[in-house]
Amino acid sequence: MAQKAVRKRSVRHVYFFGNGKADGDRHMRDTLGGKGSGLAEMTNAGLPVPPGFTISTDVCSIYYKEKGRIPAAIDKAIAENLRKLEKAAGATLGSTSNPLLVSVRSGAKFSMPGMMDTILNLGLNDASVEGLKARTANGRFAYDSYRRFIQMFGNVVLEVPKDAFEQELASVKRSKGVTQDTDLDEEALRQLVDRYKRTVRARAGRGFPQDPSEQLKMARNAVFRSWMNPRAQEYRRIYDIPDHIGTAVNVQMMVFGNTGERSATGVGFTRNPATGAKEFYGEFLVNAQGEDVVAGIRTPQPITDLQKVMPKAYKQLREITTRLERHYKDVQDFEFTIQDERLFMLQTRNGKRTGYAAVIIATDLVAERLITPKEAILQVDPESLSQLLAPGFDQQEWGSIPLATKGLPASPGAASGQVVFSAEEAVKWSDAGKPVILVRRETVPDDIHGMFVSQGILTATGGMTSHAAVVGRQMGKPSVVGAGELDIDEDGKRFSVNGRQVREGDFISFDGLTGEVKLAKVASKPSEILQVLHGELKPQQSDIYRRFTQILTWADRYRRLGVRANADQPDQAELAHAFGAYGIGLCRTEHMFFGEARIPIVQRMILADNEADRRAALKELLPLQRGDFYGVFKAMRGLPVTIRTIDPPLHEFLPKREELMVDIARLETRGQTGAELDGKIALLRRVEQLHEFNPMLGHRGVRLGITYPEITEMQTRAIIEAACQLAKEGVKVTPEIMIPLVGHVKELRDQKAIVTRVAAEVMKEQGVRVKYLVGTMIEVPRGAMTADQIAAEAEFFSFGTNDLTQLTFGFSRDDIGKFLRVYQDKKILDKDPFATLDVDGVGPLVRMGVELGRKARPDIKLGICGEHGGDPASIHFFDQVGLDYVSCGPYRVPVARLAAAQAALAVKVGD
Ligand code: PEP
Ligand code: MG
Repeated sequence: MAQKAVRKRSVRHVYFFGNGKADGDRHMRDTLGGKGSGLAEMTNAGLPVPPGFTISTDVCSIYYKEKGRIPAAIDKAIAENLRKLEKAAGATLGSTSNPLLVSVRSGAKFSMPGMMDTILNLGLNDASVEGLKARTANGRFAYDSYRRFIQMFGNVVLEVPKDAFEQELASVKRSKGVTQDTDLDEEALRQLVDRYKRTVRARAGRGFPQDPSEQLKMARNAVFRSWMNPRAQEYRRIYDIPDHIGTAVNVQMMVFGNTGERSATGVGFTRNPATGAKEFYGEFLVNAQGEDVVAGIRTPQPITDLQKVMPKAYKQLREITTRLERHYKDVQDFEFTIQDERLFMLQTRNGKRTGYAAVIIATDLVAERLITPKEAILQVDPESLSQLLAPGFDQQEWGSIPLATKGLPASPGAASGQVVFSAEEAVKWSDAGKPVILVRRETVPDDIHGMFVSQGILTATGGMTSHAAVVGRQMGKPSVVGAGELDIDEDGKRFSVNGRQVREGDFISFDGLTGEVKLAKVASKPSEILQVLHGELKPQQSDIYRRFTQILTWADRYRRLGVRANADQPDQAELAHAFGAYGIGLCRTEHMFFGEARIPIVQRMILADNEADRRAALKELLPLQRGDFYGVFKAMRGLPVTIRTIDPPLHEFLPKREELMVDIARLETRGQTGAELDGKIALLRRVEQLHEFNPMLGHRGVRLGITYPEITEMQTRAIIEAACQLAKEGVKVTPEIMIPLVGHVKELRDQKAIVTRVAAEVMKEQGVRVKYLVGTMIEVPRGAMTADQIAAEAEFFSFGTNDLTQLTFGFSRDDIGKFLRVYQDKKILDKDPFATLDVDGVGPLVRMGVELGRKARPDIKLGICGEHGGDPASIHFFDQVGLDYVSCGPYRVPVARLAAAQAALAVKVGD
């Protein structure tokens, strides 16, 4: 038999960029990471990018799979690319006459600011440092670069604590009688290099590696290792970035922003990432190295000043970044270095922005005809819309409080809370239910967990692109940075500002849109959008409202899924309607029972030990429920409203057993007798009767309606009477009566018989006919598995994914908090399954429910009303399985509208 020649396709692991040509491009973010693909794209576009190569994200996976070993073939490819780089750079790694220096940087598909490691100046050793000195004719610069490299490499790769180096630095400065690093001369820096090398030997148990190719391998591996450091893992957990995608490593020729006053380094945005304004935005430092700007160690100058300092480079930078924005059709976040007045681009990527800025920018880009409305809706993260609904301060109250200081407005929003000075304290205080403001000289990536729980972040140093600013904006946390007047004593847990002292626990407030900081607790007020919706502001008066509505109107053009709201009260229904909900997907009637005037009646109903007493109590509830339903129907102006019959176990309406026992004991010790004591004793007896070991699996949902049919009767009567009343007033309503927790078709049949009988009675009494539907929730696994049988009785299904998740996993909805974190730390679960639908386990039950339901009743209406209805990732799944609508809390309606549009657009192949 003829042998077929099998050509083995060799997989490329290393991608070169330089000399105007790159192996990769912008579409290769999976393989090259964001930074690598941006560098490739800029190189291809002919921009001034220092040459280099990207080691792909696949190599990171191999590194972990092979337990830290990199196959020889990959090492060989790296060596080949290094030779190419040397040729392009006209310099050689380790050369004593013309040494090449490289940076080794992480770069994953999704940017993770500051979470992973970077090494600069790699290639220096005892010999090549002399080469650098000769080439630059600057011994001070050469030795400063060398000592920085040993420090960075020592810390990142060899894990020598930073302090060890800081101590040596301080000691050399002392011995030379200087205070600034920049005052150290070449001789002092040579001494420092020797000390650093000794420090490395003592702390790392090995000498500082002199062989540049060994340095490179070690640095590469350290960057791969940093993918799994705790802060990077925490960051990925918060932002739902999968662990398996890994990071790429970029090895790039160093250019220096610190060769003197004709050099600089900086970062910027083509538009303001906090407010969305169309302005060139960013900052730079003269005579500084890359990390100095982002680390927030020195407060940099605004980028517009660059025009005065280096006008030629500034002009070129503006031209390039404008071109990049047009090319990527999105705001660019860029990094640059100017070496001896020559501009180099080091990075470009789509800029992170606040929710507020996202809406402004997307609508502006459409107006500028740079993108289409369809592209605009794909550009806005649905989650970020909820930031626009966050409160701000009442301007009158805010204006009456004296200003303490002003910082840079890094991320908008009103923040008020108690001061803490460390991420750990922030978590501790917030766990205790206190609102905190994290105040730091500067934040570091390790602070991420503290930033997450804070109301806002305030720092003393750093610019608009410092860590605190970038992360704050991304989290949608109000942030003010670079408030230089704050004199912070983090260890002493206090700060002073203009003569006033603030201690841990004191209240402060700030406005992230203006940068104003005040030393008081200040109440906040609703967002402009809510003010418009509540009629307190006219739409014409609010620019952001109009743009917000514009984005959602565009989204409505593309979405397939309907969006309804979960609302129990007329005011919630009004708000949901104003947010664009097309109906109510879940009205939890029991929430209406909790009103102060109602709970005694509900308790009387529960305490009744005979049907007659129960009916008497229900009769009192009837007009109240009818009034509620009337209000909700009216608010929805004839749109569909799904009303669910009572669901929770009855004990939820009664006082707690322990509380009653304490009350009784107190009355008895006071020698009190009579009606009050008897009442409490009777209540306690009933509470004990109703006690259940697993109330969530107990006497609730449809089981209540089956055992107490008179409750279903009353609720049906209230619903249909309200509908009839509205029909008489000329408002057409179609109530959808929904029975919860059905797992067996006979349960539904039982309840449906009651509903249809009572509805017919009411319509006869009222002399009006209203159309209504009877359906059920699918929230018990058995319900999903027998959905065809149930659909024979049900005109609609609404998936109750809260209970369905609870019952599929066997996790209590109320107790999962006790172990979820451990599950996530151990990577058993990525996400909270009660927040984002577990597509693998709960998903198939939903899919089965849909398929069986439609098979038995092709025109069945299908929705979902669990919390997942407002979660963008889950909405993508619901779109895929073909539900008709999602239903979520009123405030999530805008998020769901946009997410539904994105889901619909994403599945249109070839679009
Ligand atoms: C559900 O279980 O998903 C649901 C919407 O019902 P509840 O949360 O009221 O149990
Ligand atoms: Mg439920």
